[in-house]
Amino acid sequence: MRLPRFAYFERNIVPFDQARVSVATHAFNYGTAVFGGLRGYWSEEQQRLFVFRPWEHFQRLLYSARLLCMEVEYDEQRLIQIMLDLLRAEGWQEDVYIRPLFYKADLGIGVRLHNLKDELTMWSMPFQKYLQNDTQAHVTISSWRRIDDNVIPARGKVSGAYVNSALAKTDAARAGFDEALVLDQNGHVSEGSAMNVFMVRDGVVITPPVTENILEGITRRSVLELVRNELGLPVVERPIDRSEVAICDEFFMTGTAAQIVAVTQVDHRPIGKGVMGPITARLRELFEDIVRARNPKYRSWLLEV
Ligand code: PMP
Repeated sequence: MRLPRFAYFERNIVPFDQARVSVATHAFNYGTAVFGGLRGYWSEEQQRLFVFRPWEHFQRLLYSARLLCMEVEYDEQRLIQIMLDLLRAEGWQEDVYIRPLFYKADLGIGVRLHNLKDELTMWSMPFQKYLQNDTQAHVTISSWRRIDDNVIPARGKVSGAYVNSALAKTDAARAGFDEALVLDQNGHVSEGSAMNVFMVRDGVVITPPVTENILEGITRRSVLELVRNELGLPVVERPIDRSEVAICDEFFMTGTAAQIVAVTQVDHRPIGKGVMGPITARLRELFEDIVRARNPKYRSWLLEV
């Protein structure tokens, strides 16, 4: 990882190596933090950096904070301003990832959420592809189950809950797959380790609803809009059975880091024709044009730094 030069830490932008917490920090010991993940896209044509849907990302971060009883005095606008200050200080001229994180900052022992001080940190770093094999990914159904809303709310980005994603990802990677598909307690496909999932069956685009223990993905929301408005295809939000993955026409995953990944094999079975399908390919093109500020219709999804 190429380190950033700055971080927002304890209410100031400081040199990155001064943004340090104690080993006794509550969040470090108990996973009591919530985070976001945004992407900044460098436009070669315009020589400018654009952040994708920052308001929506920070709105979700604030919802995640509420899930952990955090009392934060930041709103979306303030968080956007901190992000802009940070990115301008760095002066990145390439694609970046931005990581805001609220954490329980007190030192000491005691598992709880209440009566603890909450702090914000934010940093950014250069970032390219997350999944190398993004046009023909081979996935496996994980033996790990997705955390349930009644275990740790999956709709928020809770740091401790990412052990669930990490278990699924490592087992899949060590078994030679690109990514894992994780089933929920009912045996329905909920998501990948860090991406939402979509399948196409008979011209209908299907994705699990937000009540299926998924993270409420910003890319998912954007893709749903593109499918409806640009491709004119019907969209259905309903649970997906594992056996449907093997017989659907197309399957793809969406996320800030992953963007739109075509999945062409599941557990050694080809999906559809075993190559990226036309709907996935079209969505990838549309998305790339939008994030590089080449599509004026969706310019409002971008914030220029
Ligand atoms: N699910 C999980 C578990 C994730 O970590 C992510 C990445 N944030 C996503 C889905 C995709 O969400 P988004 O499109 O907002 O990045």
